[in-house]
Amino acid sequence: MELFPYRGFRPFQKEVHDAVYRGLLEEKPVLINAPTGLGKTAAVLTATLRYLLDTETSVHYVVRTRAELEPPVRELSKILNRGVDLDHVVIKSRQDMCCHSSLKKLDYLEFLAECRLLKRMGRCAYYPPREVQAPLMSVSTYVKFLCASQSCPYEYARQKMSGAQLVISTYYYVFGREHADLRDRVVIIDEAHSLFDAVTQLHSIVLSEGDLRTAYKEAKKYGFLDEAAKIYRLLTFIKRSAGAVDVGDVLGLAADLDLENAIWEITKRKTEEKVNPYTPLLLVKELRDALRGRLRYYAEVRGENLAKTLVLYPLDPTALIKESLRGVKNVVYISGTLPVSIFAESLALSDFVKLDISFSDFIPRHNYLSIIDVGVTTKFEERTEEMHLRIAERLATAINLSPGGVLAMFPSYDVMKGVRKYLKISIPHWYEGPQEVDWENLP
Ligand code: SF4
Repeated sequence: MELFPYRGFRPFQKEVHDAVYRGLLEEKPVLINAPTGLGKTAAVLTATLRYLLDTETSVHYVVRTRAELEPPVRELSKILNRGVDLDHVVIKSRQDMCCHSSLKKLDYLEFLAECRLLKRMGRCAYYPPREVQAPLMSVSTYVKFLCASQSCPYEYARQKMSGAQLVISTYYYVFGREHADLRDRVVIIDEAHSLFDAVTQLHSIVLSEGDLRTAYKEAKKYGFLDEAAKIYRLLTFIKRSAGAVDVGDVLGLAADLDLENAIWEITKRKTEEKVNPYTPLLLVKELRDALRGRLRYYAEVRGENLAKTLVLYPLDPTALIKESLRGVKNVVYISGTLPVSIFAESLALSDFVKLDISFSDFIPRHNYLSIIDVGVTTKFEERTEEMHLRIAERLATAINLSPGGVLAMFPSYDVMKGVRKYLKISIPHWYEGPQEVDWENLP
């Protein structure tokens, strides 16, 4: 059966497809660097699914952010429409997939506590999930369909994950602290250039002064005075520190905190009081457990008075990546901006299949002018309103100066949405959304 979901390959798509398929057959990691817009996702997915059907190997496709789930889901939906029978599942964060819109406004840990409570008391109408077949067109329709079927999309996906032939998820389910069992699976890592950064973020521990203050007050209020005193010492340490701090000092303050009993008791008492059972002591426990574990961290205190935050970053994201991928059958790394050799060296990959298509291979050199603007960035932690405004102003200038049509590409739908608010352009224009494109009615 022909799996490729379009009439024919675009330039370089066949090369991408063949490189991936060859790497999988030869059981060598595959590194693909190819510019955005080339159609990598469809080519990689087709090659991998062909391999899946030939060899009955399961596949896990991971993307960094929830918005980035849409392209592989869209391509998979088209492949499935060709009559391919494939047990698949899509998963992102529990809160994103929750059917109760009112719970989406809570802080994540508060949300988790509320969800746990609703499940335990049998008060979530969507739990346990039902055995239904969810059609796949986009992530949002998938989630809506499951909610309409009274089946919690997250729990549904979680249950099906280990047996599914194809899982599409965010990085968390491969590189997070409680990652899925990936043994003997092929893992496709999209946006691989951001892997080290993303893994560092996923394993960082963040504890704010505000959280610690609330943890201290709760420990005191519910009678855990020893633990309250220790938390207060940690709070004082953070208040007095700035910049890099010695991890040993943090360990000295947090290592002997005995929190299990306090957390259990406070959660129980809050449940009886009919308030959200979440307690920030859970965050303190997370810090303590991280410091007691095998990982080595770099610690710093960020921010100003009364709004300081202690952050622990893992020192060796490479070790974390290798640990997460231990036992997998093969890995396909794809990106539009992957420095292939440096990346391979960082992961100590020696025998691999690579395809490195530069932008000038894809678009003739005389057709473009590269401008690197160091005054703007789309780095996750710097995505502020001011930055969106700055990007919009520069983009408007570039668009107004360009004589022909313009294609502006953003790293994610979130960034596009942020910039779009400020973008003032007079030529007819159209924004691609995460939903299916209505090509006939473009302006
Ligand atoms: S079980 Fe699912 S639907 Fe119910 S509260 Fe939890 S996440 Fe939401």
